[in-house]
Amino acid sequence: MSIDKFEHWWRTEKRPRGAISPDDYEDRLGTVAPMAYLPFGNGLSYGDVCHNDRGTLIDSAKHGRILAFDPGTGVITCEAGATLGDILVKAIPHRFFLPVTPGTGLVTAGGAVANDIHGRNHHARGSFGNHVRRLTLLRSDGERLTCSAEENAELFTATIGGMGLTGLILDVELRLMKVPSPHVQQHAIRFENFADYFTLIDRVGEEHEYSVAWIDQLATGRRAGRGVLWAADHADASCEYPDIPKGPKVAFPLSPPFNPLNSVMLKALNGFRFRRERPGETVSTETWTSYFHAIDRLGAWHRLYGRQGPCQHQSVYPAENAKQTTIRLLETARRHGHASFLTALHRFGDAAGRGLLSFPRPGFSLTMDFANQGEATVRLLDALDRIVIEVGGAVNPSKDFRMSPTAFEASFPSWRKLEALRDPAMASDFWRRTALALNN
Ligand SMILES: Cc1cc2nc3c(=O)[nH]c(=O)nc-3n(C[C@H](O)[C@H](O)[C@H](O)COP(=O)(O)OP(=O)(O)OC[C@H]3O[C@@H](n4cnc5c(N)ncnc54)[C@H](O)[C@@H]3O)c2cc1C
Repeated sequence: MSIDKFEHWWRTEKRPRGAISPDDYEDRLGTVAPMAYLPFGNGLSYGDVCHNDRGTLIDSAKHGRILAFDPGTGVITCEAGATLGDILVKAIPHRFFLPVTPGTGLVTAGGAVANDIHGRNHHARGSFGNHVRRLTLLRSDGERLTCSAEENAELFTATIGGMGLTGLILDVELRLMKVPSPHVQQHAIRFENFADYFTLIDRVGEEHEYSVAWIDQLATGRRAGRGVLWAADHADASCEYPDIPKGPKVAFPLSPPFNPLNSVMLKALNGFRFRRERPGETVSTETWTSYFHAIDRLGAWHRLYGRQGPCQHQSVYPAENAKQTTIRLLETARRHGHASFLTALHRFGDAAGRGLLSFPRPGFSLTMDFANQGEATVRLLDALDRIVIEVGGAVNPSKDFRMSPTAFEASFPSWRKLEALRDPAMASDFWRRTALALNN
């Protein structure tokens, strides 16, 4: 077991954390104590939805086989520990692709279901759970349940976005999408301010399969809201690239004692990033690895954020007044002395998440990442939550380590239904400090 793998990214607390394999967990069934376990994928959630410090993790990554794939229909079945990268490697030669692809291919199928993750095409395809046909759930009473829209439907919807609390997902059956090529034709469109972005997203957002914008969070005055929109579609079949997925090229073995991604450095980097794009629109063909998973070439990149690690705040809020809300969120971060490099703005589509507690919903979703500065960062994140809740939005649990119980309840009013279906053996640090705190 690698201790590092189970370490919290934001590193406020360092202690070894233990994990067992799904097989060892099965051997213990019948004698498991309440709230003593939690499934774990690859720990790529920024927060504590994947931790149970008072219990033991079940390391699903040890069960990662592809069990079946039909190259005619694109239906694939895999163990929960298979990564999305594993699925793509199997599917791409047959011109199938994941219908929902997050920013890293290292996410496991179980983790993708349990957080009902989204990609850059939420407006076109919804979230991951929308493409799950069936899954097998192991409950701590020893029952192995097939869950789908037809069978054990209540547990099915609770497990999608259910943060590992309904039991251990053993395998997942997904329907992939047919694509002419895995690679993409990208339109990089530079915009100069917020007004330009909101006009642009109305015009081009829904014309393309994928779209996401990067915003220079540190730009102020007439430059405020400048950034780049990357809209893309799968390229046509004639586009062939020699592109074999490889392991990380550069790994950061240690964290620097200070945070190199401070405001001064990021102001320069953000400015460079903006100016690097030509004004107007640039069309290029990008390999799927560089378009979707460029960060996977860097190992342990979170160490770049210094000893206390990175943290992320992701929210979704209604389209009405989205411009004003976005401006308020970015300004609040600046006022609190925090700088974000990977500031991403997505427009989510109308497809409601299928899960009881799915985070993706119609509106705009802003993600900001910060170097953790302890209490000062917690104060900022709480201030961001207040803005989001005030406008009727929600904060993403999969990126969170300190959301208040009230912010959680405002984001997920139906949480009690999940609590009623929770496997008694499962709990997470997130669930203890939000839902269970509300219950007490
Ligand atoms: C670089 C990067 C880019 C990202 N990009 C995106 C993005 O574009 N869109 C997005 O939505 N998210 C994104 N994320 C977040 C990430 O996709 C989610 O947090 C994802 O759930 C992590 O998956 P994991 O396999 O590492 O699971 P973990 O983080 O280990 O666990 C996540 C949850 O899944 C549960 N779980 C894991 N395995 C099982 C199982 N077998 N049975 C039941 N429950 C299980 C855990 O209990 C936990 O609650 C990104 C994260 C990183 C680091």
